Parts: sequence; structure tokens; C-alpha cells
Amino acid sequence: MNTSRSRQHPISAANGPGRGQRRQLNLLFQMGASALVIAFTLITLTGWYLWHSYNLAVTRSQINTQNLTQALSQHANDTFVQSEAILTELVALVETSPTDPAGLAVLQQVFRQKTSEQPQIHSLSLYDAAGKMIVTANQNLPANTDYADREYYLYHRDNTSTAIHIGKVIRSRITGELILPISLRVEHPDGRFAGVLLESVVIDYFKNFYTRFVISDDSTLMMMLNNGTVLYHQPYNEKLIGTNISNTPLYKNNIRSRSSGIVTTSMSSEKEEKVYSYVHLPSFPVVVTAGLSLDQAFIDWKRDALSHIAMVLIILTVIGLLGVVLTRQVRARMQVEETLRLTQSELRKTNATLEQMARRDSLTGLYNRRHFDLQLLSEFTRGAQESCPLGLILIDIDFFKQFNDIYGHVAGDECLRRVGKALGSVPLRLRDVVARYGGEEFIILLPNTDAEGAMVVAERAMAEVAQLAIPHQASPGGRLTMSIGVFVGLPGTQWETPSKMITRADMALYQAKHAGRDRICVA
Ligand code: GH3
Ligand code: MG
Ligand code: MG
Repeated sequence: MNTSRSRQHPISAANGPGRGQRRQLNLLFQMGASALVIAFTLITLTGWYLWHSYNLAVTRSQINTQNLTQALSQHANDTFVQSEAILTELVALVETSPTDPAGLAVLQQVFRQKTSEQPQIHSLSLYDAAGKMIVTANQNLPANTDYADREYYLYHRDNTSTAIHIGKVIRSRITGELILPISLRVEHPDGRFAGVLLESVVIDYFKNFYTRFVISDDSTLMMMLNNGTVLYHQPYNEKLIGTNISNTPLYKNNIRSRSSGIVTTSMSSEKEEKVYSYVHLPSFPVVVTAGLSLDQAFIDWKRDALSHIAMVLIILTVIGLLGVVLTRQVRARMQVEETLRLTQSELRKTNATLEQMARRDSLTGLYNRRHFDLQLLSEFTRGAQESCPLGLILIDIDFFKQFNDIYGHVAGDECLRRVGKALGSVPLRLRDVVARYGGEEFIILLPNTDAEGAMVVAERAMAEVAQLAIPHQASPGGRLTMSIGVFVGLPGTQWETPSKMITRADMALYQAKHAGRDRICVA
């Protein structure tokens, strides 16, 4: 057994380098992953919410336009049903009335009364088969009574239908107002064309109704003939009244072929898209349509979306900032822990060195007396408990004073080093201890060893040093020799203290000296 065998400090093996750092890195990774999961969840939820609320906004805008269209169609239908009733009633009267001045005067009276009863009626007029106005609800007939060029006259003259005819909006020759002509064919009893009865409805009547709806400037309400001729347009625009929209995608792809519907389209490529809803009146050749601008339809949604996105961005920023702060803190902690770890490691090394220094003899590298005494005490106790014998070998170099005197102190030191090394190379068991006991004295502690075993070790020690063959003039053999005292006892019995055992070994050593040195004596 080699006494120079190094024993690792129990603490220095624990807590390997980077273990703390790995834990911190794990923490950082977990933090990063959590932040990513939170960010992903937030963005997904917001995306889902915005998509859902967008669909709701679309549905709401469709419902709004449909409700508007429903109200407009109801109003238009009521207007035309009323006009149809009045015209039908009056045509029956006209066809049976005499056409002499007195008969016409009576008709004028009736016309006037009807006009005054219905505020939407601008005028009621009767034209003969040649297109000449013969009765009007107005005060007097106009100077020019020839209306043969009017579209409604030409229509009824050439068309035998007895349904009401709704014409294009025209400007009244009498008042200059825009009016919607609604007319019915007057026939002779034999079915021949006898003239036209015209009810003109003031456009203001529609204007008053349409302006009740609060819509944005870029939204549209329209009433038109089935052929696409605009009868009324809200926001009110005289220039658009009378125009034809039959070449627009809205008309071509929807209004022309379907009785009602809802579509997002634009009136032309330059104009922005709107949500249009349209419906054909069931009994009249009229269509009403409401177009809500997408800006208007999504104004609330956009505001909501923006505030949501802003909120999510704020939350993400806060999470990001927290992440940065936490990462910095963790990094700082990692640095502190790393510094601490290094310091601890240095401290452990220093402690180990100090411990080593405290237990070792600096000249020979063997254990010192302090360590030996501690080990002796502990082995003595153990030997006493287990009833095991304890061996002690006390070694003293012969004539060493002379050695120093002859060869000098430095050579003496070197000699001690070599002897120490030789003793240290003697094979021993794990618990055996070789120590420099002081000066030129060495001691070997042999726990659980009997006298025979101790003797073997003493002889080996003797042989190792003899092998060195250190010259020594003052020694009788010319070589450096040692005297050895061996004592083996049972601790706790007759040799009740460690120092008494040392004394016994010393006595054996004394015997060896006395008997001529260079020998081993057993006490
Ligand atoms: P003996 O044979 O009876 O043992 O005689 P001795 O001269 O060896 O014994 P003594 O005790 O009279 O002298 C021991 C000497 O060992 C005294 C001292 O000079 C020397 N010595 C003790 N420690 C050291 C040391 O560390 N270095 C050196 N060079 N000499 C030492
Ligand atoms: Mg001595
Ligand atoms: Mg001596």
C-alpha cells in the first residue's frame, strides 16, 4: 500500500461543473417556450375572434340591407297599389262619362278632390285618343295641350294592356317639378283606344320617405324600373334619376335574373364594393335596392378589431419585456452562481491543500505526527471495541547527529527524504499509516496486526532502507542503518492508552540501540 495515495475530498466530487447552468438554461428554455405558447394562443384566439366578428358584421350588414329593402318595397308597393286603385276607379268613371264640357267639368271636380286627398299626387290628367289633354286637376288646361309625344301616351296607344303603366321620371310642363307618371289606358266600350288617364306622383313624396333612413353618404337606396331606369336615388341626386343601370354588374348578374337577392358588388370598376340587397315588387315592374357601403358595414368591426389588435400587441410587448427582464435576471443569477461555483471550487482546492499540509510532513511527504496521533487514537478506540491487536513500529536512524556533522545539514535533509520515500514504499494495508514522528524518527501504525505481521513490516522497512546503501562514515558498517522497536498490544486491556503503547515501542527501540543498533527489537 502506498501512503502517497491521494484521497479525494468528498465535496469536490459533488456538483459537477455546469450543472447549475444547465438548470438555468432549462429554465430559460421553459420560459421561452411558455412565452411562445402564450403568444401563439393569444394570436390564434384574436384571429378566431376577429374572423367570427367579421362574419357577424357581414351577417348584420346583410340583415340591415334586407330590412331596408323590405321597407322600401313595402312603401313602393303601397304607393303603386294606391295609384292603381285611384286610376282604376277614375278610368271606370271616365269611360262612362259624357265628353261634353259639362261632363269634363264634373271629371275635373272629381280629379281635384282626389288630388287634394292624396298629398303624393301632383296631378291627375286625362288625354284623348290624340294625346290632347282634356281634363286636369290643375286650375286650367295649359296653353299647349298636346302630349302626344309623351312616352306614357305612346305606350297606351300602342299597347292594349289595361294594367297601370309606370313611366320614366319626367319634369312637369306646368310646374317644372320632377314627377313619376303612372297611367292607365282609357278605352271605348268596344276596346278601341280612347285616351290615357295619368296620375303624376311628385318625386318629393319618395324623397320625404327615403330621407327618413339614416345611411352613410356612400350608401345607396334606389327605386328603378325593371329595365334598370332609375326612378329615385338616395342620396338625392337629380342627375341620377332617369339614368339606366342595366349595364352594371349588379343589374346584369343579379337584378335582371332574380326576383330578390343579396350580393357584394360594385356599380362599376371605379366604384367601391357595397352590400346590395334588391327585391322586385311582385305586382309592378319596379325594383328597389339598398346598397350599404362596406366601410359603413365594417366600421364597428374595424374599430373593434383595431382595439383588439392593439391590446394583443400591448400584452405581447409586456410578455416580451417581462421575458427580457426575467432572462437578464436569470443570466445575472447564472453568472453569480458560476462565480460562486468557481469560488467554492477554489476554496475546496485550497482547503484540500491546507488539510494536506496540516497532515503531511513537508520534508518527506509522509504523514506528520499530528495525523499519526489522530489515527493512533481512532485505531486504538476501534481496536479496543473490536478486540483487535494494534502494532507500532518506531524507527530511529543511527548516528544521525554524526551524519549531519560529517555531511552537513542539507545532506542530512536529503537523507531523511530518501529514507522517508523508502519507508513509504513498503507495501501496507489500507488503514496502515507511515509517519515522520520527529527529527530522524519514523513510526508505522499497524491496526489489526499481530506481532508476527508487525515483524514482517519492520523487516521490510529495514530492507528498503538498507537497499538505499547510504554511505555513513561514522556507522560501523560504513552505511546508514536504523534501529527499530516493535510493539504489538491489545488496546483497552493492559495498555490502556495510546501513549503507553508508544512508550512500549520506544522501550523496544531503546533496547535495539542498546544492543548495538542496526536491528529490530520487539517489546
Ligand atoms: P543514536 O544512534 O543514538 O540515535 O544517535 P543519533 O545521533 O542519531 O541521535 P540524536 O538524538 O543524538 O541525534 C539526532 C539528530 O538528528 C540531531 C539532529 O541534528 C538530527 N536531526 C533531527 N531532525 C533533523 C532534520 O530535520 N534534518 C537534519 N539534517 N537533521 C536532523
Ligand atoms: Mg533520535
Ligand atoms: Mg538517532
